[in-house]
Amino acid sequence: MYLQQVFLLRCPCGKPIVLPRQSPLGRDEGQQYRPTDKWPLVFACIDCERSSAHLARKVQLEDTDEKLAQYLRTRSLWRLEIQCAHESCGERWTIYTIEAKDAPEIDVVRAVRRIVPPTHIHPGAQGQLPFPAERYNVSRFDYDF
Ligand SMILES: [Zn+2]
Ligand SMILES: [Zn+2]
Repeated sequence: MYLQQVFLLRCPCGKPIVLPRQSPLGRDEGQQYRPTDKWPLVFACIDCERSSAHLARKVQLEDTDEKLAQYLRTRSLWRLEIQCAHESCGERWTIYTIEAKDAPEIDVVRAVRRIVPPTHIHPGAQGQLPFPAERYNVSRFDYDF
């Protein structure tokens, strides 16, 4: 049986954070890992409801098994690019998560923001919740199994 190898990181809870080959994170360059996205990678884990930061040099090449492949077929790596919508600020954050392929974008954003609450609040923005003061650019990367 042919087992594909994948680049992955691990959440402190043990959940594999597989980097899809088609994403800027998991480009296939043979056995060598060449990160092309911004690092460290911040990952919000839906399983343990914690976030963790990962360095590119921690990426490992591992064999998949049928169980992992099956799990990944129903999942995608989601990237949330968050931008502060406050006038003349424009600060940005990028957070990744693994969620169901067919999850509605808004649910993914909510789940991530529950795990990593916004901490960036401008003084004077009274009575304004941080949630609507952000803009989201959501990308989804599928696994090729
Ligand atoms: Zn976890
Ligand atoms: Zn701001």
